[in-house]
Amino acid sequence: MTLFPDLTDGILGESIIGRAQNKGAIEIYSHNIRDFSEDKHRRVDDTPCGGGMGMLMAAPPIYRCWKNITENTDFKKRKTVYMSPQGRVLTQNVAKEYLDCEQVIILCGHYEGVDRRIIEEIVDDEISIGDYVLTGGELPACIFVDCVSRMIDGVLSDSECFENESISNGMLEYPQYTRPIDFMGRKVPEVLLSGNHKKINEWRYKAALELTKKNRPDLL
Ligand code: SAM
Repeated sequence: MTLFPDLTDGILGESIIGRAQNKGAIEIYSHNIRDFSEDKHRRVDDTPCGGGMGMLMAAPPIYRCWKNITENTDFKKRKTVYMSPQGRVLTQNVAKEYLDCEQVIILCGHYEGVDRRIIEEIVDDEISIGDYVLTGGELPACIFVDCVSRMIDGVLSDSECFENESISNGMLEYPQYTRPIDFMGRKVPEVLLSGNHKKINEWRYKAALELTKKNRPDLL
């Protein structure tokens, strides 16, 4: 649920997530909250009660949009998420919790955010993508959808499997190389060209450990 469906459709319609939709592994719909405004100018926001800067998204159009979705779909395992800098921070493990859901309805805020009462009425979980503030929830929603979707069967091909990647396996992934073997004097480590898989695995494990120690010691 967004005021800018072209943003989310554009991002999620491309590449791996776009292909996953085309082959039916996942379904994604962007609903325009403005379509549910009853104002003759299609307004969806108003000034904050008590004063202050900016505009707030009003509760009624969001509620009608949400009702329209829930009344026209029939899923038992459904959750409604508000993308918010005030939410718990998205991690791979938080994303995994959503693999159990048949439907996730995501509310994207904009401007100064949304009227608190809509959160109390419809939202099950508030998720932040990090300790910084963006102009809207559309990019956070796309990040959340991408992160959950790539763990769903049929979204990634075997060659793109997520299981051995950074974070998923508890540390960062080892450094990767492809052709050319020599790039401006920087050569691919010889062991990777040796064909000796035991040695390659040992090298990769050690390199992954070193990289994790350097960049993300908190993971170890
Ligand atoms: N006034 C709000 C506050 O101080 O908590 C911030 C509103 S922000 C400018 C507008 C919208 O962007 C939010 O309603 C939310 O949907 C989204 N947003 C901004 N930063 C986010 C983040 N780190 N994670 C998830 N959503 C975010």
